[in-house]
Amino acid sequence: MFNSLSEKLDKALHVLKGHGSISEVNVAETLKEVRRALLDADVNFKIAKEFTNTVKEKAMGQNVLTSLQPGQLMVKLVKDELTQLMGGDAEGINLSGDPTVILMSGLQGSGKTTFSGKLANYLKTKKTKRPLLVACDVYRPAAVDQLHVVGGQIGVEVYSDKGNTDPVAIAKAGIAHAKAKGLNVVIIDTAGRLAVDEAMMAEISNIHKAIQPQETLFVVDAMTGQDAVNTAKSFNDILNFDGVILTKLDGDTRGGAAISIKSVVNKPIKFIGTGEKMEAIDVFYPSRMADRILGMGDVVSLVERAQEQYDEVEARKIQKKIAKNQFGFDDFLKQIQQIKKMGNMKDLIGMIPGAGKMMKDVDIDDDAFMGIEAIIHSMTPEERSNPTVINASRKKRIGKGSGTSVQEVNQLLKQFNQMSKMMKMMQGGKGKAMMQAMKG
Ligand code: GDP
Repeated sequence: MFNSLSEKLDKALHVLKGHGSISEVNVAETLKEVRRALLDADVNFKIAKEFTNTVKEKAMGQNVLTSLQPGQLMVKLVKDELTQLMGGDAEGINLSGDPTVILMSGLQGSGKTTFSGKLANYLKTKKTKRPLLVACDVYRPAAVDQLHVVGGQIGVEVYSDKGNTDPVAIAKAGIAHAKAKGLNVVIIDTAGRLAVDEAMMAEISNIHKAIQPQETLFVVDAMTGQDAVNTAKSFNDILNFDGVILTKLDGDTRGGAAISIKSVVNKPIKFIGTGEKMEAIDVFYPSRMADRILGMGDVVSLVERAQEQYDEVEARKIQKKIAKNQFGFDDFLKQIQQIKKMGNMKDLIGMIPGAGKMMKDVDIDDDAFMGIEAIIHSMTPEERSNPTVINASRKKRIGKGSGTSVQEVNQLLKQFNQMSKMMKMMQGGKGKAMMQAMKG
């Protein structure tokens, strides 16, 4: 996320961080570099200028030049200003109303349908709500089908009425359906166009007026930079929406949209989308995002994600298995799947302070575990629960079946053995023995 911006800001602030004495000249120089980094990230010119002016004023006001750690103070000022620019505090969504009605708006391809599903899934699991998805795209039958697929994946009912060409009527019927079935959140997915046009604006505005949602969310593809900001402005003029959803932040996004959008429409970014999977949704915390942009990682979010995936019952089962020496490849596979659920690997690594920078050239993607999974899938149940039976001919067979090599199978077996040993030692609290094993 925002690799190039992070790198440039890091370079800009590096001078100050390393310098013993700091002069007015290199503060000005640094801020010029910061401004350039923001502009390169597609931040609006006016915003970038105001940003550096504010930081400069604050730096002068706080006597940065004579402070004990001028570099640190400058980094803090930049961080605080970035946080402020992106919205200050995190803002949740309004779940009042029975049912709560949430209207999704945005251009076609922005990620509305995907996000509708993610939000339904999020509300269902985190807030123990009972959501209903409503398909109001009357132009593209495929869009309605897509919402049904999404609903199926997350176990959420989808209301649609193919053949009905009146989106207002469908939205109203959807809400009535939710009431009748005791569902308490209605998420309405609407039709988008490739660009802002009058007919689309009139349609979304009509739906908005007719159903008076508690929350109107505007979904925008972060990859589109300044365009995202302009589109947001057009939608906000018509809908006066409550919040922005920035999608596709997992891609090679430059960051301009995330940084500029709040100050242009004066509406908070509420959630971000970081992948195509239903779990790839995060509450937007301006301060955490600023940390990530400045390469400081985001340990809080990382721990939260780990906690979300932590299943106490499952953990106990595994503990027991380890104690009894029964931890097998099936359990290993489950662990991998849990890690994968935490999100995209590159994204996770970016949350570790300093790691994003270190790993920027390493090609890690969601397929990182693919080879391992393929190897395990090619094992028989017996081999999975008792890997010691895997002899040379079995290794050959497994390698062939998984499209890998005997060498890779060997490597996995070795890693698995080491891991099993270590887990066993940790269980017994034999710290010293473990250290020994790690050295050996
Ligand atoms: P809609 O036309 O606004 O409903 O957009 P869709 O939900 O159909 O999304 C358009 C494309 O973007 C689909 O291929 C989605 O899988 C993809 N997409 C949506 N959100 C994200 C995201 O956060 N990250 C990535 N990488 N892809 C996304």
